[in-house]
Amino acid sequence: MTFNLSVILTESARREPDKTAVIFGDRKVGYAELNAAADRAAGALLRHASPGDRVALMLPNRVEFLECYFGILKAGLVAVPINPLLKSAEVAHILADSGARVVIAGDLSAGEVGPDVLVLNPDRPDYLGAADPLPWAASTSADDTAVIIYTSGTTGRPKGAELTHFQLYLNCSLSGERFDTQPDDVALAVLPFFHVYGLSSVVNVSIRRTGTIVAVPRFEPKLVLEAMAAHRVSVLAGVPTMYHALLHADTSGYDLSALRIGSCGGASMPEAVLKGVEEKFGITVLEGYGLSETGSTATMNPSVDDRRLLSIGKPIWGVDVRVAATDTGGELPVGEIGEILVRGHVVMKGYHNNPEATAAAITDGWLHTGDLGYRDADGFLYVVDRIKDLIIRGGFNVYPREVEEVLYGHPAVAEAAVVGRPDERLGEEIVAVLALKPGATFDDAELIAYCRARLADYKCPREVRVLDALPKSATGKLLKRELRAAV
Ligand code: AMP
Repeated sequence: MTFNLSVILTESARREPDKTAVIFGDRKVGYAELNAAADRAAGALLRHASPGDRVALMLPNRVEFLECYFGILKAGLVAVPINPLLKSAEVAHILADSGARVVIAGDLSAGEVGPDVLVLNPDRPDYLGAADPLPWAASTSADDTAVIIYTSGTTGRPKGAELTHFQLYLNCSLSGERFDTQPDDVALAVLPFFHVYGLSSVVNVSIRRTGTIVAVPRFEPKLVLEAMAAHRVSVLAGVPTMYHALLHADTSGYDLSALRIGSCGGASMPEAVLKGVEEKFGITVLEGYGLSETGSTATMNPSVDDRRLLSIGKPIWGVDVRVAATDTGGELPVGEIGEILVRGHVVMKGYHNNPEATAAAITDGWLHTGDLGYRDADGFLYVVDRIKDLIIRGGFNVYPREVEEVLYGHPAVAEAAVVGRPDERLGEEIVAVLALKPGATFDDAELIAYCRARLADYKCPREVRVLDALPKSATGKLLKRELRAAV
């Protein structure tokens, strides 16, 4: 079947040519204008690459990301989004692995791109050069790869998860519907477009549903709050650390009355943050779950009236989830913790040029997520932790998330992470790493006693470290690997 994901833009441009598709700073770009820019980008890119070739997109959130992304799709090329903050060795790995010979990169990152590729720099005038626009979309087939997202997955060097035209179309259609985005919604787009959550669940969803996105290039509370007030943002999408920052930010003086709903995912949402945000902003925040390998959303809470706190919800239409024993692989009963496996249209085609890694990740159509979780009697799913973050202390399993939940409840704690430190006697010892609220003081012994009152002894941290802030990835996820190395 011939199908091209760029239909989400062309259809919206046909229906609502004058409506604003994206706002960036003072610039407002309408649907017809964005569509025409994508046609120009498609024509220009085809002068340097042929259909099926990979083109790297190494930009922060800005209008040119969107025109090139849709241009790449229309031209039948494959988009390889790259974090613009990566350094040359990391970029070199992705370019070599994907085989991309054309990179769209601004002044911020052009210096990290090696010499053997063509760089098109949107910070230079007329960066695409003169070319005839491509007024139609290439006849890609539904299961051709549209986007390759580089991810570390559960282990090893970044691998490229291949996501197809039709899979991404279904994902934005189904998750947009479940989330009930309305055409009049204005969505905050601060999640990076180079990450699957920003690209699929914010950009694709909003464009598919003729919404408006307010693109913000990085998460800084002041920048975000100004944009939210100025453009009457109604929908938020964020990872827990963003909500945490908004919860603790001084929002007085900003008119946030247009806010209607939020979604969160990407990492476990601490209960205190979820409840705090809902109360402070008077909204409901629905949690969802997914991976780069699932083209974003795999599960989501069904609706404002049908959700469970701390649950990642239920699979979206056409998706099966199984909770499997980590040793035998057998399906586990309600309430028992095992690995979450996902099957259905959300599962990637495979890792680019890496059949071994693909075979290790997908068996009989089931994607191994590397996440531990369980299902309740009503079919709601819960993520407990990642398999590799699990701490085994003296033979007992300790799920860091459970301990972190308790730490977040302590009045002095702003951010908490719990990691294992190798220990000769016990295998691993539990260390809590904290960032404190401004002006808060605390005492190790008191904090450990606080945990003891709420958790079985074997789960309690024996040691506490305090940092100014916890290390986070560009998407705002806590970098547990770095924390483990530091303790
Ligand atoms: P990425 O491929 O960067 O999107 O990372 C995917 C990983 O993020 C998953 O395997 C989970 O470990 C984590 N994740 C995503 N959503 C959630 C969620 N709602 N709760 C807990 N962890 C999540």
